[in-house]
Amino acid sequence: MSYPISTSIIYEKFQLNSECPLCELKETAEEQFVHQFLNDAVMENSTRKKVNELGFCERHFNMLFSRPNKLSLALQIYSHLDKNVLPHVYQTDNLKGALKQVEFIKKTSSTCIICDLIEERMQKYYITFAKLYKNEQSFRDAIKNSNGFCLNHYAKLIEHASNAGSLKAEFLNDITCVTEQNLERLNIELKVFCDSHDYRNSYKPLGSSATAINRMGIKLYGKPPKKIL
Ligand SMILES: [Zn+2]
Ligand SMILES: [Zn+2]
Repeated sequence: MSYPISTSIIYEKFQLNSECPLCELKETAEEQFVHQFLNDAVMENSTRKKVNELGFCERHFNMLFSRPNKLSLALQIYSHLDKNVLPHVYQTDNLKGALKQVEFIKKTSSTCIICDLIEERMQKYYITFAKLYKNEQSFRDAIKNSNGFCLNHYAKLIEHASNAGSLKAEFLNDITCVTEQNLERLNIELKVFCDSHDYRNSYKPLGSSATAINRMGIKLYGKPPKKIL
């Protein structure tokens, strides 16, 4: 049976018992691409052209900036500005012309080569995921015993259910069941956390509910919350 992408990493991520194995896959892919863009990828002509055209979103600009290779990032941004942004930003006293610049800015602000590559990789994971479900009992068991998925990846799995072929209905049933059960489980933990702030419950141990809000962040947004000052 051929899959669009290697299956062992999918099993590996299930073994982590996180709130969403697909978020784990996405994080690994993101790490790989960020590393690549500060190393070998920048040397390839086709990739350089794509960077010039698409640039980076704020998240990936910040990730690239956080790594030691500032020269590589600076060269890529310089080229993106030089080839794609500066030709569209020019002096004018004409509103129509200026609004064209607004149109360009809106478009260029919404593109990112790393986001595109991650999405491309994730599409392959969604397809492989459903095919694995169809072909391997051990994978069906892994799903049933998992903590479910974040809302975004839950929606993606539903959209790709047809790839489970003759087991589409069972696939949908298992995915919806495990997600519903685990959202309820986590919401109960969150309630325990809320109730623990009542002095009458101060003697009760918090247990796993101490991290419920962090894990709910993964369920809702695909990432645990972090402080923004
Ligand atoms: Zn996820
Ligand atoms: Zn991005």
